[in-house]
Amino acid sequence: MATTTAALDSKVAVRATKLLINNQWVDSVSGKTFPTVNPATGDEIVRVAEADSADVDKAVHAARAAFEKGPWRKMAAAERGNLLHKLADLIEKHADELARLESLDNGKPYHVAKAADLPLTIACYRYYAGWADKIQGKTIPIQGDYFCYTRHEPVGVVGQIIPWNFPLLMQAWKLGPALAAGNTVVLKPAEQTPLTALRVGELLLEAGFPAGVVNILPGYGPTAGAAIAWHHGIDKVAFTGSTEVGHLIMEAAAKSNLKRVTLELGGKSPNIVFADADLDAAIEGAHFALFFNQGQCCCAGSRLFVEAKAYDEFVEKSVARAKQRKVGDPFDAASEQGPQVDDVQFEKVMSYIEAGKKDGASLLAGGNRVGNKGFFIEPTVFADVKDGMKIAQEEIFGPVMSILKFKDIEEVVERSNRTDYGLAAAVWTRDIGKAYSVANSVRAGTVWVNCYDVFDAAAPFGGFKQSGIGRELGEYGLQQYTEVKTVTVKLPN
Ligand code: ADP
Repeated sequence: MATTTAALDSKVAVRATKLLINNQWVDSVSGKTFPTVNPATGDEIVRVAEADSADVDKAVHAARAAFEKGPWRKMAAAERGNLLHKLADLIEKHADELARLESLDNGKPYHVAKAADLPLTIACYRYYAGWADKIQGKTIPIQGDYFCYTRHEPVGVVGQIIPWNFPLLMQAWKLGPALAAGNTVVLKPAEQTPLTALRVGELLLEAGFPAGVVNILPGYGPTAGAAIAWHHGIDKVAFTGSTEVGHLIMEAAAKSNLKRVTLELGGKSPNIVFADADLDAAIEGAHFALFFNQGQCCCAGSRLFVEAKAYDEFVEKSVARAKQRKVGDPFDAASEQGPQVDDVQFEKVMSYIEAGKKDGASLLAGGNRVGNKGFFIEPTVFADVKDGMKIAQEEIFGPVMSILKFKDIEEVVERSNRTDYGLAAAVWTRDIGKAYSVANSVRAGTVWVNCYDVFDAAAPFGGFKQSGIGRELGEYGLQQYTEVKTVTVKLPN
């Protein structure tokens, strides 16, 4: 069994702090550990084993053996589904503990983790549990006396590198389809938030996954992460994080063994509000689209375009709403917003606020740190933002709303698309024609109409342009974890 039991917060105990390799909890080869920090206080929660390339080697070896020789590949597909269901059951059983741990390590309000992250995580595992025995190829009527069919086989050993903004959910988006399709996995959680990934490691053991099928290696990006991206024994890498690191992952894949690559990267998503929309719904929707999860969402509605006719009213009400937003202790039921995940993100967001002021945007709410410990930032609203300003171009990943003005649909579509990103977009209008037109014209992987951040395990998600490659979730997400094999059989005359 795992590791140390440190009673930290009276509300949750941290159990697993080592590396999970071949169903064993082990120290890193170097013996090194690193601290994970509570963003609400800046204090260390616990130290966690720090993986590097030697540990990645060990984990890849275990995953390869599990893929080629273990019971995993021989197991009935339905049995893989059962294991995923068992994992979902265990996560459900420990939902309260996991929500507390997620809140402690990431800073998101506990009640939000409990109401959103946990149910979405469980639903994702259950969705892919259902797919395990429904992964099938086709029979193909080729010319001549042949029987031709395809098999959808697992890709093999999969490296998965996940971010810190939704640790449990991103783990589910990665493990769910990979395991349903019969792959084995080496997964690296983000260094800021390793704790829930490791706790799920304990639950994977309890569910009965065979040795080597899932290996979990906390560690830093340029060391453990890069070792995964470069490893010759890994057949595919799935990465969620910044566009900058996405380039590095792809370069590593290209220069090592042409491993398959799927990337879910940054965004600067346009959220377009027409004057004919239900304005109160749009104001609340835009508030949620930007401030949800402390603004730390790759699909945040961070370019908020509002039609000139409704602009002043929209800005006034959005500012009032932001000022009401309650920032505070993630374990306080009244808190809508917790701290940013760490000091690095805190400083980065504060520097964007400075850039907004310097570039001449109107700062109408927030702009300051909250309190003097932890990484809390006031909900911040800039109006009169222009396309060329830094805050309108770069991903801020924090609670900073930028409101821009537009005249008509042609103009706003053109400006929406003037970006290297293409992750998500939304349009608010009562005119179905406008809604269709924007939905068809905006170059983004997801478009929400009169809603925002509606996620479902069955609906694919991913980016156009530099927001990514491939899709996660749904059947499209599953396809990224299989290789198609064509089998052609000569028929007897
Ligand atoms: P952010 O800037 O939001 O922290 P990153 O893209 O840096 O996003 O991090 C997302 C994930 O990628 C984390 O698990 C991180 O450790 C990992 N990572 C960071 N740099 C690298 C790298 N050079 N190679 C592989 N993984 C990396």
